[in-house]
Amino acid sequence: MIYLDHAATTPLDKDVLKKMTPYLTTTYGNASSQHAFGREAANAVISARDGIAKIMGVPSNCLYFTSGGTEAGNTALKGVCAANRNKGKHIVLSAIEHPALLSAAEDMRAYGYELTLVKPDGQGVVSADSVNKAIRPDTVFAGVMSANNETGVIQPIKDIYSVCKERGVFFYCDCVQTAGVLPFAHFPADGVGFSAHKFYGPKGFGGLYMRPDCRFERLISGGKQERGLRGGTTYVAGAVGAAYALEKAVANAEENNKKVAALRDYFIKCVVTEIEGVSLNGDSYRRLSSNANLSFDGCDGEQILFALDLKGVAVSTGSACSAGAVTSSHVLTAMGLPESRVKSAVRFTFGKYNTQEEVDQTVVILKEAVARIRG
Ligand code: PLP
Repeated sequence: MIYLDHAATTPLDKDVLKKMTPYLTTTYGNASSQHAFGREAANAVISARDGIAKIMGVPSNCLYFTSGGTEAGNTALKGVCAANRNKGKHIVLSAIEHPALLSAAEDMRAYGYELTLVKPDGQGVVSADSVNKAIRPDTVFAGVMSANNETGVIQPIKDIYSVCKERGVFFYCDCVQTAGVLPFAHFPADGVGFSAHKFYGPKGFGGLYMRPDCRFERLISGGKQERGLRGGTTYVAGAVGAAYALEKAVANAEENNKKVAALRDYFIKCVVTEIEGVSLNGDSYRRLSSNANLSFDGCDGEQILFALDLKGVAVSTGSACSAGAVTSSHVLTAMGLPESRVKSAVRFTFGKYNTQEEVDQTVVILKEAVARIRG
């Protein structure tokens, strides 16, 4: 099996599993309990929070643990909107956000909120100027992701944040695709979300940084966990695993990015040499080192995905299946690409355990699949 879908999720690093295991077996206390078991768990959570906050360059008491990137985005968007409803009811998002943000904003329509979607250019880049134009006096929340999950295109977040600050609008940056890959300092924001399973940590654990002086309401009511802003028993092993996974990812980021970029560039070179009618979607320079989003003339991306899957190669398309119907990638569509190119797109995302042999095998399998589909 060849796994080329690291933007969807990454395998748990074995060293991370080792760090987590005691908190799933022997040190199983509830971090809110007042006995020794609880204290041990609580101390592990404190260390994990301090470790992650230090890497993010934020105060520990502004970092809330969540179940992942979706909950982080929902909490920021819905929480800020709810706390600022007297100021206005307008939301600005890039048209290429993950559904974690897009669906959350759609939910807010029921409460009278309006949503403006900012389109990227043809290379998948959202400009600060277009965000500025979308902001209105009643805008209470703006969100643009650090890098897109389909194209890997890195967004000009520093410029966008400057605009939002100047206009007095809360700015959220979904850093799910860049956490552990690029420094958090490249993506300044009032709110930042991440998810551990994208950097070889556990699934079902993530975090949300919220600027200390920003007002937001909680999404999940319950116990007093997370300073009363997110109820629910803390996933101690998740916190420990996420902190160690992030520490390891950041320590090895330069080396891993170089390795992954070399594999990705080699893959693209082989594919465009061996297969005719291939185009790269999204800016070729402003992109994550792991991502190759390619369209194949005369093919259907889904057909390529299934053909590769049959041969043991896991990739992805940007299309989503809802209510039995397949909808095209909202990201590539927003970039203004022709429908034929959108429908024939396949996302290959490389990871630290991939090898050149795997790339060579994938190119052979892909060449055969494309030839058969073009028939
Ligand atoms: N945001 C982005 C950019 C993502 O790629 C993902 C997951 O694919 C999410 C949010 C959702 O994160 P999670 O799976 O932790 O809920």
